[in-house]
Amino acid sequence: MSEPGCPMCQKLAHPEQGKGDEVVWRFPNSVAMLGRWQGYAGYCVLAANVHARELFDLPDDGRRAYFDEMCLLARAIQKAFSPHKLNYELLGNQVPHLHWHVFPRYQGDPDLLSPVWKAIDAAEQDAGKKTTLETGPDPRERTVARIQEALAALGAPNA
Ligand SMILES: [Zn+2]
Repeated sequence: MSEPGCPMCQKLAHPEQGKGDEVVWRFPNSVAMLGRWQGYAGYCVLAANVHARELFDLPDDGRRAYFDEMCLLARAIQKAFSPHKLNYELLGNQVPHLHWHVFPRYQGDPDLLSPVWKAIDAAEQDAGKKTTLETGPDPRERTVARIQEALAALGAPNA
């Protein structure tokens, strides 16, 4: 179920040891964590409970349930923050353990035509940009609470 040496498996086993990455919600098939880049207010990462590299590696029922949990998380972020649009990304080039990035995008974003990664890459090289992209309108614990409230209102299953 877990893979030795996989950083996501380690994080899921010991979420309290990570800096940031607060657990937002434990679904039956995945764990939602608040992402680092809260300049995109409400950004979450949804990691599959089991170690799998590709969606097709999951059994059919588990894959569908994982997708439904991602949609529910997205709906909750929409409800809590009313972004202009949500972006869904399943990359895994650095950490090949299934995890969705759910990025809310807001009006006024200067890079609205691009995925977030160029801006994040630029922020990694520039302390000022990093602070801007890491800092949301609310403290992180308040952001977590708002998403949790929305998930509870939507009747999200809790593992
Ligand atoms: Zn893993």
